[in-house]
Order: sequence, then structure tokens, then C-alpha cells
Amino acid sequence: MSGLLFFVLYLNLPYVETPKEKTLKRELANAQLRFELLNKKMEQAEAVLAEVQDRDNNLYRVYFEANPIPEEQRKAGFGGINRYKDLEGFDNSKLIIATNKRMDILTKQIVVQSRSLDEIAKLAEEKEKLLIAIPAIQPVKNEDLTRVASGYGYRTDPFTKARKFHYGMDFTAPRGTPVYASGDGVVERADATAAGYGKHIRISHGYGYESLYAHLYKYNVRKGQRIKRGDLIGFVGSTGRSEAPHLHYEIFKNGERINPIHFYYGNLSPDEFDALLRVAQQENQSLD
Ligand SMILES: [Zn+2]
Repeated sequence: MSGLLFFVLYLNLPYVETPKEKTLKRELANAQLRFELLNKKMEQAEAVLAEVQDRDNNLYRVYFEANPIPEEQRKAGFGGINRYKDLEGFDNSKLIIATNKRMDILTKQIVVQSRSLDEIAKLAEEKEKLLIAIPAIQPVKNEDLTRVASGYGYRTDPFTKARKFHYGMDFTAPRGTPVYASGDGVVERADATAAGYGKHIRISHGYGYESLYAHLYKYNVRKGQRIKRGDLIGFVGSTGRSEAPHLHYEIFKNGERINPIHFYYGNLSPDEFDALLRVAQQENQSLD
């Protein structure tokens, strides 16, 4: 066979891949497919993470009064050196680098999100302690809600008949009716040396909250005693500036007396709350 004939034949022959080439080609196609699938999975993971981030910023962090994490901080990439240099120069470099970058950003976002949830968990624990401590029940049994005689606001003074601000809530009850602590705390005082209150108990709940129970007949606790919500602390009476046996109940936040009506959520349904609110808002005469 002459050289020329061989050349002509060679050109006319279809290109035949060696088995090795065939295997490599298959492997390459397989790898590309795998990268595409990986990108699909990352897309799903990103979508789930985006939802968690959204809930984190707009719900959890708002509820626990933490600042939202800014978008730039969550989605921050990596500046400075090119960390994908060793992936350059191949046929599929673009795909491989993009996939790696995507994975790195996703990983970083998960770290940021995880730290945020750790912070939320700590805040939730604090909030739970606060909710246990602050007043949340009525200080006397009031199942049919008929015991509230007078609420917080302007009322007629029972002695002078003048219009005066009444800083607490009055619960009518016979002498000797049990009085309960409305939240966990420490008895700050149990004495009769403050003007007007008669025998009274003051409980410190922490977080700036205190509750006060006045005109008592008898004490069931001493100063310095640690108590739980619902503990029996004393009995209704009419000591001090009081017209008839009743419990005068006050709530303090950072030294200011606030409306106790907002601190009964522990044992009232929404309907019961509405009913109690109506009674408490009537501008009548207080028992002081
Ligand atoms: Zn009163």
C-alpha cells in the first residue's frame, strides 16, 4: 500500500474512539450531570434557608426584641484572595467554581443563621423566666368575676367623695378570704407602717415588677420569704384606709403604679377578660 492510499483511506474512515476514550467521555458526562443535580439540591436548600432567615428576622428576632440581621451580613461573600484558583484552567472550571462558590456562601449563611438561633434560644429562656416571675393571676379566687368592685383610674373617694385617681384594683371578699401571690418573687415587706394601706404585703418579682396587697386581716408570709405564683400569702381584711373588707391590689413597673388589668392572662379566657375589663372600667366609688 502506497503512502498516498493510506492517507486517503485514513481520511475516509470514521473516527473510532478507543475504549479508554469512551469511558472518559461517559465519566465526564456523568460528572456534569452530578454537578447539575448538586446545584438543584443547593437551590432547594437555599429556598429553605431563605424561609428560615425570613422567619428569624421578621418573627423570632422581633418577638424577642433583637435587631434583625442585615441582608449584607447574611449574604456576604468572600473578598480578598481568589480561593478557587486551583479549580481554574479545566474544561468545566466555570461550572465547578460556580458550584463551589454557591456551596461556600450557603455554608456561611447557615453559620450566621445558627448563631442567630442560639441567641434567640437564650432570649427565649430569659423570657420564660420573666413570664413566670411577673404577675399573671388574680390575687383572690374570682370564678364568676363578681369580686371586682373598682378598677384603676378616676373614682370617687369613699371618704371624701371627691374624684381621685385610684391606683389599683379592689376585689370585694369577706374577711379571711385567702389572698394569693400573683407571680414568683420575694416578699419585700409585710407590715402596717405605710400610710393608708393598713396591713399589706409587697412582693418583688424582678425585671422591675412588684405587686402590692393591702388592707389585709392577717399575713401568711414574712419579709424576705421566697414565694411562688399561687402561694397563699395572707387574708382579706379592712385594715388601714378601707371602707369595707376588700383587697386593694397594685402592680408596679420600675416604681410606677400601672393598671393591674393587664396582668391576669394566666387564668382568664378572652371572654372573661372582656367581662372583667367592663366591670373594672366603670367609674364608680372605690373602697380604697
Ligand atoms: Zn382600692
